[in-house]
Amino acid sequence: MSVYNFSAGPAVMPKPVIEQIQRELPSLNNSGMSILEISHRSQQFEQIMADAVANIKDLMAIPDDYHVLFLQGGGTGQFAAAPLNLATKHRSIALLDSGHWAAKAGAEAKKLRFHVTTLATTESGKYRELPRLNQTIPANSFDYLHVTINNTIEGTAYHEVPESNIPIVGDMSSNFLGERYDVKDFGMIFAGAQKNLGPAGVTIVIIKDELMHHVDGIPSIFDYQLNADKNSMLNTPPVFAIYASGLVLKWLKEQGGVDEMEKRNRAKSSKFYDYLDQSHLFNCPAFKDDRSLTNIVFSTTHDKLDQAFVEEATNAGLLNLKGHRSVGGLRASLYNAMPMAGVDALIDFLYQFEKDHK
Ligand code: PMP
Repeated sequence: MSVYNFSAGPAVMPKPVIEQIQRELPSLNNSGMSILEISHRSQQFEQIMADAVANIKDLMAIPDDYHVLFLQGGGTGQFAAAPLNLATKHRSIALLDSGHWAAKAGAEAKKLRFHVTTLATTESGKYRELPRLNQTIPANSFDYLHVTINNTIEGTAYHEVPESNIPIVGDMSSNFLGERYDVKDFGMIFAGAQKNLGPAGVTIVIIKDELMHHVDGIPSIFDYQLNADKNSMLNTPPVFAIYASGLVLKWLKEQGGVDEMEKRNRAKSSKFYDYLDQSHLFNCPAFKDDRSLTNIVFSTTHDKLDQAFVEEATNAGLLNLKGHRSVGGLRASLYNAMPMAGVDALIDFLYQFEKDHK
C-alpha cells in the first residue's frame, strides 16, 4: 500500500533519494564498500562533505563571511552550544518565547547558568500567535537574541525575521531550506537535519565568522571555532547522515532550489489551511499571518474524535497525524519532500471524515 508520512521528524525524504541510497548502499561509486563502511578520512567522504557544504551555501546564498558546520547533538545540543560559544561577554541572552522549543532553549541556557530574559511571550494565548519585539533591545545587555523561526509544535513561523540590534540565533530545525530567509539577518542559524533535510544524526550550524572565537572551558565537541578549524571533522562525523543529506541537497537543486520549495510549500499549506478555515469540524488554532508552511496544527477540539481520526487516517495510509504529546490534537507536517498529491489525499480524507461524523 502506498502511504503518505506526515511525521514532524524524522520525516519524509524524497523518493528518488531513498532509491538512490538503496542502489548505492552495497558499493559507493564502485568502491566495493558501503557508505556505512567508509572512513570519514577517505577522499570519497571528503568530497561528499565538501559538496554538501557548497550546496548549502549555494542554496541559501550564504555570504562568504559565514561558516557551515556539520555537528551532532541535534537542536537540543545547540540550545547548550549557542550560549557556551556566543554568550561570553554578558553571559546573558534574550529570547522570544514563541513556544515549546523556545522555552526549552531558554531552560537549557539557564541550566548552564546563563541569564535568560524573555523579551516577549505569547504563552498566555497558548502560543497561537508569535511574540513580537515592540522595543529596542537595550544595548550592551545581551549577547544574542534566540528566535525559533518555525515552531514545530504550535504550527507558527516568523516569515519576516524580527528586527534586532543584536545578533539573532535562529532555530530553523523545522523549516530549513523550506522558505527563503536572508542569512545576513542572522548571527547564527541551526537546524537538526531530521525534519526538512535528511535522516537524524547531523545538525547544521551556519555561523558568522565574527561571532566565532575559541572559548576556554567548554567541551571541544561543542566549540564552533574548533569544529570550523577541523572542517567539521574534529571527531568522527555522522557519515551516513551527511551523505544522505547531501543527496537531498542535490535533489533540492534539481527541483529549483529554495525559492521553488517555498512556492510549493506555500501552495501545499494554503490549500490545507483553506480547507481547515471552511470546515465545520476541524479548525486551526494558529493566527493567519503567523501560520507555518511546514507544520500544520489542527483539531476537531474533541480528544476522542481526534483519536478516531488518527486511527482511520492510519488505516487509509495517511500516517503520523497525531499532534505533539504536549499539546494533543492533530498535526500534518508538509516538508519539502511531501508532494501535493499527499496533501490532496489528506484533504479528500478530511472531507470524507467530516461527512461521516456530522
Ligand atoms: N527546535 C525545534 C524547532 C524542533 O522542532 C526540535 C525537534 N522537534 C528541536 C529544536 C530539538 O531537536 P533535536 O531533537 O534535534 O534535539
